[in-house]
Amino acid sequence: MFEDKQLQCCDCAKTFVFSAGEQEFFAVKGLINQPKRCENCRVICRVSRAGKSADSVSKAVCFQCQSEFLLPFRPTGYKPTFCNKCFRAKKVENQSDSTLVSA
Ligand SMILES: [Zn+2]
Ligand SMILES: [Zn+2]
Repeated sequence: MFEDKQLQCCDCAKTFVFSAGEQEFFAVKGLINQPKRCENCRVICRVSRAGKSADSVSKAVCFQCQSEFLLPFRPTGYKPTFCNKCFRAKKVENQSDSTLVSA
């Protein structure tokens, strides 16, 4: 089984948690490399790689767990926004209606 790991971000040098759930997600996707960046730096990196300015990154509050996170775009204000964790959890929920019992 997977256990939460502490990793250091190569951009901002902060430690962040590579959670058991994420590790499982990586394993399922066949990804061998661990993430090098924290969640926020990953968003900034993705935006700059897409050729957009860092201005298009905006702060949002998760509709479900109320934690702050960065969005790679400006939210329209109509839809509730979810952090990666809750978004992924919702996806799993939708895929397997009644069979899945989450930890
Ligand atoms: Zn970082
Ligand atoms: Zn959340």
